Amino acid sequence: MAAITRLAKRASFVSSLATRTLTSSQVNAPPHAAATFRRFPPRDNPSKRCVQWVFLGCPGVGKGTYASRLSNLLAVPHIATGDLVRDELASSGPFSSKLSDIVNQGQLVSDEIIISLLSKRLGAGEAKGELGFILDGFPRTIKQAEILEGVTDIDLVINLKLREDVLLEKCLGRRICNQCGGNFNVASIDIKAENGSPGIIMAPLLPPVNCMSKLITRSDDTEAVVKERLRIYHEMTQPVEEFYRSRGKLLEFNLPGGIPESWPKLLQVLNLDDCEDKRSAAA
Ligand code: AMP
Repeated sequence: MAAITRLAKRASFVSSLATRTLTSSQVNAPPHAAATFRRFPPRDNPSKRCVQWVFLGCPGVGKGTYASRLSNLLAVPHIATGDLVRDELASSGPFSSKLSDIVNQGQLVSDEIIISLLSKRLGAGEAKGELGFILDGFPRTIKQAEILEGVTDIDLVINLKLREDVLLEKCLGRRICNQCGGNFNVASIDIKAENGSPGIIMAPLLPPVNCMSKLITRSDDTEAVVKERLRIYHEMTQPVEEFYRSRGKLLEFNLPGGIPESWPKLLQVLNLDDCEDKRSAAA
């Protein structure tokens, strides 16, 4: 398949990226974290500040939020295949006419199309000198995971987890500014602890005043479509968690709340430090 051949060309790019092993005790990871996983920069060549990470997790869990924050912190691109699909839909690219119904019904785009879109994006990045990435929304099937594993050595797969009733509320509360592209959420989650399950509080992530009148809702964020996307996640993507777990690459991360609680904890688990965050907190 031509698209896969193009992705396979990534092998030369990724094989040049050294990795080092980080054990869960070194990163102070919770007991459910994978025993070992790898991250950049490599000790033997710190000039290659590259990570190749994947974010897994149900729709609405916050993959985009945390992948984008980590991409800023680690200076690697955040590549969301959902964004590639939406860009293709908005263009008159070769796949746009096929995609709209699939996405609006919450179904997965074919492996061939998604690999072609991703391969194009990775190729463009390579031409600009990109040396790593944080993938969000890919792989979503075992076949995609096998193809990716065949051409790269993914360092780490972060599996974000949140209870399902919260996922639904978060998807329904999601808003996007159609001018600046910013992602916001108007849902205010306040679930009390019950029957041994912990409570969870997530404040809304409100837009600045100048985005207020420009907010739009994704066409696939309706209740029926979100439920279908969750069903498809369990059927098609959950096996991908096991794929990476069995390779010692999966880091399970239960979100304890909104960004103020979750971000520092995620950084701690990853043994990373956000100096910018500390500076703004101290200001
Ligand atoms: P997302 O923004 O990640 O929720 O993705 C939006 C939609 O794009 C999904 O519901 C799928 O239709 C499509 N999509 C994104 N990534 C993939 C993928 N890796 N495989 C198949 N379809 C995808």
